[in-house]
Formats: sequence, structure tokens, C-alpha cells
Amino acid sequence: LKLSDLKGVFNKHDLFVVSIHKQSNGYYTVKLDASGIQWRPGEHGIFSLPDRSFSGRKWRAFSIASIPNENEMLLGTSIGIKPSGFKQVLASLEKGDIIRLRGPFGWFVLQDDATPIVMIAGGIGITPVRALLKSVEKTQNRNIHVVHSSKGGHLFGDELVKLSNQNNKIDLHLTNDRAMTQAIIADLVFEYGNKAFYYISGPPKMIKDYRKILKSKSIKNKRIVTDPFVGY
Ligand SMILES: Cc1cc2nc3c(=O)[nH]c(=O)nc-3n(C[C@H](O)[C@H](O)[C@H](O)COP(=O)(O)OP(=O)(O)OC[C@H]3O[C@@H](n4cnc5c(N)ncnc54)[C@H](O)[C@@H]3O)c2cc1C
Repeated sequence: LKLSDLKGVFNKHDLFVVSIHKQSNGYYTVKLDASGIQWRPGEHGIFSLPDRSFSGRKWRAFSIASIPNENEMLLGTSIGIKPSGFKQVLASLEKGDIIRLRGPFGWFVLQDDATPIVMIAGGIGITPVRALLKSVEKTQNRNIHVVHSSKGGHLFGDELVKLSNQNNKIDLHLTNDRAMTQAIIADLVFEYGNKAFYYISGPPKMIKDYRKILKSKSIKNKRIVTDPFVGY
């Protein structure tokens, strides 16, 4: 984490909702008009809902699942059967409503443009990984592996399958079984060791577990970049 990774936190933008879609398995995607806003793929923002009253904490951190070239800021979240006040309001927003953003900023960004990439996402942790993958989807100079482990369906799954089918440097594993996920990671660590960067995103507990596995196989800290979704 560098001080410059946090610089964007002082920026404030009011963004118009373009659309909100309920996907399967309780996932929601939110598209925001992001004309004129720049961010590094993998960054996140602090989002609030101005002029709305609801109980509980008034802001949430969300990773940005899109890249600036897509022109829209794409968010993905999970909204269960007993949603927080924030998420109840979020799910009810309509086209043209405003969401306030502090940021974007963050540290979950690509470390260089040549080293092999292993991305490991748990559940909703796929959001910043989609952005990283979109930013390298045409790459031909390094191997890219994405392991998305999720019990409740794979958000962006169809799109990521298509994307990996279009580039033989991109290898996608969609899993819903912990043992299988660990076996895939073990194979990747065997293949690349400290020659790759490992990007892990999702619930803090999951990150802790996978970091432990990588460390036990002698992967150095400086090769591991994490995005803990505090709050899950
Ligand atoms: C960098 C980052 C990126 C994230 N990206 C995404 C994303 O792309 N999509 C997404 O859905 N979520 C993301 N999150 C998590 C998100 O900010 C919310 O915490 C999460 O969605 C749960 O919100 P909620 O309203 O459902 O539950 P909440 O009502 O906020 O909380 C659920 C439980 O977690 C506890 N909790 C909440 N916040 C904290 C905290 N800061 N520290 C300790 N305990 C806490 C609460 O007390 C409660 O028990 C991200 C978090 C971080 C830090």
C-alpha cells in the first residue's frame, strides 16, 4: 500500500444510476454514468445515497467491476433476504437517481505488465477481478489464470467464460468446492512459484486462508496482493 493509492479518497462525484439489475442468486449489478471519471482497474470507492433516509451505516465500500473504457461504472453486490437499510435503498433506486462516490482509490491494481497473473476470487470478490481481467483481455505476453470460487453462482460467469474463450492466454476456473479450489491453486503455485503475482479478493477470512496456503508454499508477501471485503 502506497500513499498515492489513497489519494483519490478526496475526490467526490455524484453519479447518475443508468440501471440496476437483479441477477440470479441474490446478486445485483449497478451501472452508473461515469463520464469523465478515471480510475485504475481494481480500485474501489466509498458509496453513499444522498437525500435518502434509512437506518444503519450510511456508506459502503464497493469495488469497481468495470474499466474506464467501458464508460460506465459497474458495481456488483449481494443482497440477501434481510438486507441492511443501505442495501434496501440501493436495490430500490431507479434510472436517474444519484449515488455519491468518494474516490476511486485503492491498491488492488496490476503490479506490472509482464509477470504471469493468478487471480483468486471468493464469491462477490469477483468484482475487482472482472476489472483487472477486462484491462488485460487482449494480452498475448503472459499467462493469466482466474480462479473464482463461489457456492452461490458465479456473478459475471457467462461473460468471463466468453472472454477466456477468446484468448488462449486466459485460463478460467469456476469452482464451487473448496477442495477443488485449493487443488487448482496448488497446481498454479507449483507451476509459477514466485514468478507470478497472486491477487486475492473476497471476504477477509477467505483471504487469510488463501494467503496461508500461498505462504506455506513459500510464496513471498511481495508477490501477494489482497483486497479484503471487510463487512462480509
Ligand atoms: C475494499 C472493499 C471493497 C469491497 N467491494 C465490495 C463489492 O464489490 N461488492 C460488495 O457487495 N461488497 C463489497 N465490499 C463490502 C461492502 O463494503 C459491505 O461491507 C458488504 O457488502 C456488506 O454490506 P451489508 O450492507 O450487506 O452488510 P452490513 O450491514 O454492512 O454488515 C454486515 C455485518 O458486517 C459487520 N461489518 C460491516 N462493516 C464492517 C467493518 N468495516 N468492520 C467490521 N465489521 C463490519 C456488521 O457489523 C454486520 O455484522 C467491499 C469492502 C471493501 C473494504
